[in-house]
Amino acid sequence: AKGMGKGDWQRYQSDLASAMVQRLEMRTQLHEAIEDEQFMLQYQPIVELADQRVTGVEALVRWQHPTRGLLGPFHFVEAAEESGAIVGIGAWVLGEALRQFAAWKAADPDTTLRYVSVNVSPRQFRAADFVEQVRAALIEADARPEWLLLEITESLVLKDADKVVQDLRALRAMGVRVAIDDFGTGYSSLSYLRQMPVDVLKLDKSFIDDILTSRQQHALVDAIVTLAGNLDLAVVAEGIEEPGQMLALDAMGCHYGQGYHFARPLWPADIPAMTASVRPA
Ligand code: C2E
Ligand code: CA
Ligand code: CA
Ligand code: CA
Repeated sequence: AKGMGKGDWQRYQSDLASAMVQRLEMRTQLHEAIEDEQFMLQYQPIVELADQRVTGVEALVRWQHPTRGLLGPFHFVEAAEESGAIVGIGAWVLGEALRQFAAWKAADPDTTLRYVSVNVSPRQFRAADFVEQVRAALIEADARPEWLLLEITESLVLKDADKVVQDLRALRAMGVRVAIDDFGTGYSSLSYLRQMPVDVLKLDKSFIDDILTSRQQHALVDAIVTLAGNLDLAVVAEGIEEPGQMLALDAMGCHYGQGYHFARPLWPADIPAMTASVRPA
């Protein structure tokens, strides 16, 4: 390129080459990781804003990489989506989250937990037999459909909307609930909300960040919460980090929240203490 010296050019070439090698390596490793069961789940509490009871948890995947240590999704989900490995990873996540949830329910019949939320990648959702996969995973884990909330993204709706709507209807007929994740970041217009048979809207953190400092942002979130209520959608505000944000959202009529203010993603062993119906003060 223009303005590049010979050294720059060679460095550029070798950066490109090593990026390619890294991507190829990652692909092989992702497939091995599924077989070796190197994936793990953390769970982040979702609370009822009115009383801060933990009513749900979101399963978040981590990769215990053989040499690089514990990796968050930022490091591999995109590569997994591109290579198709996400389909296998997603199937494992769904099965593991349901199995874990059923175990929590069995261990504490009075748990405040009502559901586990599971992220579904577009590629995973588009598998021809996705609805059947969900049905089989529920049976396998001995889990009730009401225990499962599937988080999909707005981008799904852009292609084959008819097929997507049909599958969403089938899932909901089964008793499984569906959420639109990261609402507000995609191409969505509010009119999608009318067409999409979903139950929950997860309002992206980028919308929550400025509600205390920007009057416009506050008004926008307030309007979305009102609209969602009129459409019978529950709203979960994501990325709540400050008590003031929680109070403002509660005042708007937003019923649920998730964020570091309440809890970070936790290992499974730390969940029961947060979901016992009687908790130490
Ligand atoms: P997401 O679905 O929007 O999940 C919420 C992310 O925000 C999580 O990051 C969580 O740790 C983080 N978070 C929660 N509260 C706060 C907060 O108060 N402040 C800040 N700064 N961050 C907060 P994580 O675990 O790194 O996951 C990132 C993304 O990776 C997820 O975003 C989701 O899109 C994807 N992902 C995670 N697990 C899975 C999975 O099993 N399958 C698929 N397909 N994608 C997954
Ligand atoms: Ca999510
Ligand atoms: Ca989200
Ligand atoms: Ca997000």
